[in-house]
Amino acid sequence: MLWSLAMTIFTPVSRIPKEYYVTAEIDQKLKEITPKTGERYLPDSSDAEQVRQQSKILEDFASENGLTFVETDAHGRLRYCYQCSLIKPDRSHHCSSCGFCVVKFDHHCPWINKCVSYRNYKYFLLYLFYGTSFLVFGFITSLEAIVRFAIDDKPIDKLDEFIPVAVSILIYIGFSYYPLGELLIYHARLVWDNETTCEQAKPPMIR
Ligand SMILES: [Zn+2]
Ligand SMILES: [Zn+2]
Repeated sequence: MLWSLAMTIFTPVSRIPKEYYVTAEIDQKLKEITPKTGERYLPDSSDAEQVRQQSKILEDFASENGLTFVETDAHGRLRYCYQCSLIKPDRSHHCSSCGFCVVKFDHHCPWINKCVSYRNYKYFLLYLFYGTSFLVFGFITSLEAIVRFAIDDKPIDKLDEFIPVAVSILIYIGFSYYPLGELLIYHARLVWDNETTCEQAKPPMIR
C-alpha cells in the first residue's frame, strides 16, 4: 500500500512531447487573432472569421508535422493551449495547479499536490485497492473482537468499555468507505468505461 502511494507521489507527471509545441511565430500569429482581457486569452470569444483563421493555422501545423487528433474544442478547432503554446494531444489538459499541460489528465490531487495522469494512474488505482483492502481487513478482524466481547464478557455490564470500541469501529467503517472505498468504486467504473475523471465531468468533442 505504501509502495503504491509512494509511486503515485514520486512518478514524474507525463509532460506533452515536444512535437506538439508550435513555433514562436505560429504562437504569435494565433495570439494576434485571439481576443484577450489583460494577460488572459479568450479563444471562446473569437468571432467566426477569427475561428476560421485559428483553425487553419492549427490544422496546417498538424498536417505539416503528421499530428492527428480526434478531439476538438466547442468551436471545432484543434485544442490549443495559450499558456504552453502547444496543440493539446487527445485526452490531455492544462493543469492550472501544476502550470503545464499533462498527458491523459485525470485530476490534480491536492493531497499529494500532483496530477494523477497517464504515468501514475495505475499506482493511484493500486493505492485505492490496497488501502481499501487494508481497511476492510481491519474492520473484519475488529468485528470478530466485538462478537467475542459480546459473547464472552456480557457487554451490558461493561458498557463504558464497550462503547469506545464500538465507536472506534464505526469511525473505521467510515474511513473504509469514504474516501477510499468510494473512490475505488468510482475509478473502477471509469476504467470500465475507459474515461478519465475530467472526461466524465466534461465529455470531449469528437470530430
Ligand atoms: Zn498548457
Ligand atoms: Zn496538476
